[in-house]
Amino acid sequence: MNPITHTERSQQNYHQLCDHLVDGVASSFHKDPNQPYPISFERGEGAYLYDLDGNAYIDYVGGMGPMILGYAPQAVNAAVTKQIEKGTQFAAPFSNLLRLTEKLTAIIPCAEKLAFQNTGTEANMLAFRLARAYTGKWKIVKFEGQYHGWSDEQRISSDALRAAQFGRREQPNKLLEVSGQLPTAADQILTLPWNDGDLFERVLTKHGDEIAAVITEPFMCDSGPIVPKNGFLQKLREVTRHHQVLLIFDEVITGFRLALGGAQSYFGVTPDLAVFAKAVSNGFPLSFVAGKREVMNCGVHPSGTFNGNPISVAAALATIEQLANDQVYRRFDMLGQMFTTGLNKLGEEYQQPLHAAHFGAIIVLHFGRCDSPADFRDALNTLDQPYYDRFVTTALQYGVRLTPKRGRLYLSTAHTEREIRRTLEAFEQVFQLLTK
Ligand code: PLP
Repeated sequence: MNPITHTERSQQNYHQLCDHLVDGVASSFHKDPNQPYPISFERGEGAYLYDLDGNAYIDYVGGMGPMILGYAPQAVNAAVTKQIEKGTQFAAPFSNLLRLTEKLTAIIPCAEKLAFQNTGTEANMLAFRLARAYTGKWKIVKFEGQYHGWSDEQRISSDALRAAQFGRREQPNKLLEVSGQLPTAADQILTLPWNDGDLFERVLTKHGDEIAAVITEPFMCDSGPIVPKNGFLQKLREVTRHHQVLLIFDEVITGFRLALGGAQSYFGVTPDLAVFAKAVSNGFPLSFVAGKREVMNCGVHPSGTFNGNPISVAAALATIEQLANDQVYRRFDMLGQMFTTGLNKLGEEYQQPLHAAHFGAIIVLHFGRCDSPADFRDALNTLDQPYYDRFVTTALQYGVRLTPKRGRLYLSTAHTEREIRRTLEAFEQVFQLLTK
């Protein structure tokens, strides 16, 4: 594979955007701090993205997670086109809305009832409100390093430690991390390290009568990746139940990726509430809270102009139809196995400390001294971030697009053995360069 040498049009596009748009990108996550400028794309097809200069990239970013069927899949395009012709926004019920809610409540273990929003941030905010309304308590327990969205409360202790450790940003204080964040945002949030069931139990025994809910990614994907220790999720379930505290799973990433029914069906632990977004509609904005009937019916009425809009609902129905087939998840496993076995072997050959593993349609990479960190601090302390950053930058030059900063990659149904083989060939060239 020849390295990509021309990306001038991306550079020019970005520099012009910077004149008009904050940071030159629509979301801060669209830019890799290690690149002088982000690549601008003209189009995507299947597992590939094509930039403004015509270069092709095998993509594992998946639009930050949603693109579980790859780019521009025929089934979703057809469903959305059909819906566009019938109308895009009614602000009223429609028959596909019933079809989708019937499907989702059948697939997701905790989903007795649903409430739609557009983004993961909004749906997590709604879950907090539902938990507070239902329990009559105010505090929420979250885990260090976990990102649940960009609102004031959700940005408590999500990435400040990483930013401080790798010198990318001053750490304003331990918990608040972004400019303009309300100083009172941390007042009702208790932050704990992940994967420590005994500590969790002690905190709930002491403060359970003030705590409305515990929110966690069931598998730390956004900031990790960190796998739950055996029995940890079960412990969260038992202890929360004992103290009448609700358990919320943030399945914004794990939903539809670990399994059709999300991490809760993959790990066999059913929360009281769960939040889904991203992969449910393959690139159209849709999110929802799913939960126990009595909690969902507790008198919080979700508002939002575009909630459950017909376009996203049509896209979700088409996406789920494609995913509702055992073969799909078996194939993700097979491809994940091929990818991680190949990469781990290259790591050994080139004597690089890296560990790759796969879970459903998610591949996790840990470049560092330990193969499976227990919590966020452990991950940061054992991670060779500069090495990972160099790996991502060099892989991009060889036409493979990986997630910056965090070692999690997304497979789609459009990836085949061919793309994995080409990716491993590119990785070999990356290692050759990095170990020179
Ligand atoms: N929760 C998790 C685990 C996420 O990874 C994200 C976004 O990356 C969110 C919530 C927020 O979702 P959104 O960006 O759709 O608001």
